[in-house]
Amino acid sequence: MRTTHWIGGKPWHGVAERTGDVYDPATGQVAGQVDFATAAVVDEAVATAREAFTRWRTASLAQRTTVLFAFRELLNTRRADLAAIITAEHGKVLSDAAGEIQRGLENVEFACGIPQQLKGGYSENASTQVDVYSLRQPLGVVGVISPFNFPAMVPLWFVPNAIACGNTVVLKPSEKDPSAANFLAELFAEAGLPDGVCNVVHGDKEAVDRILEHPHVKAVSFVGSTPIARYVYQSGTRHGKRVQALGGAKNHMVVLPDADLDLAADAAVSAGFGSAGERCMAISVVVAVDPVGDELVAKISERMAALHVGDGRRPGCEMGPLVTGAHRDRVTAYLDAGRAAGAQLVVDGRNHPVDGEQAGFWLGPTLFDHVDTDMSVYTDEIFGPVLSVLRVPSYDAAVELVNANPWGNGTAIFTNDGGAARRYQNEIEVGMVGVNVPIPVPVSYYSFGGWKDSLFGDAHAYGPEGVNFFVRSKVVTSRWPDPSHGGVNLGFPQNR
Ligand code: NAD
Repeated sequence: MRTTHWIGGKPWHGVAERTGDVYDPATGQVAGQVDFATAAVVDEAVATAREAFTRWRTASLAQRTTVLFAFRELLNTRRADLAAIITAEHGKVLSDAAGEIQRGLENVEFACGIPQQLKGGYSENASTQVDVYSLRQPLGVVGVISPFNFPAMVPLWFVPNAIACGNTVVLKPSEKDPSAANFLAELFAEAGLPDGVCNVVHGDKEAVDRILEHPHVKAVSFVGSTPIARYVYQSGTRHGKRVQALGGAKNHMVVLPDADLDLAADAAVSAGFGSAGERCMAISVVVAVDPVGDELVAKISERMAALHVGDGRRPGCEMGPLVTGAHRDRVTAYLDAGRAAGAQLVVDGRNHPVDGEQAGFWLGPTLFDHVDTDMSVYTDEIFGPVLSVLRVPSYDAAVELVNANPWGNGTAIFTNDGGAARRYQNEIEVGMVGVNVPIPVPVSYYSFGGWKDSLFGDAHAYGPEGVNFFVRSKVVTSRWPDPSHGGVNLGFPQNR
């Protein structure tokens, strides 16, 4: 199967200069090819989006929301088809793919309510016979660059809000699992979105660089790893664009001595190994506050042994393969590195039984205990099914540890002490905090974003901050004088 660009409401018909392989991670086989966009293809997409903007920006709110409501219905009806596409290219199990679509749908529903978000202010008679009001207007063409791990949800964090605000979009999804983006673009077309409002270009750095440099791209929303997020932010802002660039993570779950350890163990396993740990909000570090370490590690390992790892299309499978063979090998290398550095390899994922074809990109759930902060299993974002346990003597030591980490995406505290939880939410330097909730991804009417090296730029994704990102404000001061106006006055306008 060949996945190509989607420009102006239809598939691109050119011949690609470069293509990439797309794998089925559960079989390890090449399942298709994806075209890589050159700068010229990106230019074509941006020109198409720019042309579409001249009309879409004046489409009424009622027209825009009619499309979004229709899109919401189509996506809801076709969610099983999209989940199958995600599982085939990403590898996550079907139920998890369905969960990602559900979270994406919530963002579409938020965008359906955009008229409420786009209301400006109005001050009647701010000065005599002078009214002042604010407008929230679209930016123009915006770029959206998304990672492999949520091929539907992350585009849905941005595209619905961007177009609801009156912008037009060029989306560049991950080249590892490109087909979900095309599926969404086709549904938008079916929902009545005018041609050219939502375009998709596929590819790698060449396409991204052209988006970042293109003079007619006004803003870029990026999600991916920290080094690329930093690069995208620096390059995009240097070219005069508004940029929000969400990066990687190392998410800590602190377990206090008074916590319900069964609840904490369930949460650590769910949040550590769901989607094979390929989530930016996955828990990758458990911080066990003395004396819970031994009991917690025992409970976590017990649960890990029962996990059903296999082809995400097979019934009962809870955890699928990693996205590519190269990524699986990179993650597996950390198992040897952690042991060599002195961590205790309590559960070695290489020994876990697999319900799938041998050539798939498998690695079972892995647990390290007695990890130190200078070991690579702690300092690096592994982005796989590898959980590290660090032991600390006190609550204060736990907070110090989490705050010393350069990332600040998500964190969770498990405790039955409301006062301790309240102190944690106040003291911790992390953008999203869970209290007895391991993956605190905000609902669509709040905004998603980390602190420190997990976000470059000011605006978090989706919700109210997402809308702010996609509009610029304008303030109108208007005077409709009655016939007895006051004549010439060279003084600076005063509010009288
Ligand atoms: P990635 O950084 O490799 O790729 C992200 C996007 O950037 C892709 O579209 C890719 O094609 C493009 N890209 C890759 N290399 C590039 C380069 N050198 N120059 C320009 N563009 C480039 O990330 P990934 O592996 O696809 O996704 C996993 C990463 O994303 C993890 O680090 C994860 O934590 C992070 N992530 C963060 C969030 C968040 O909200 N903070 C959400 C999901 C994923």
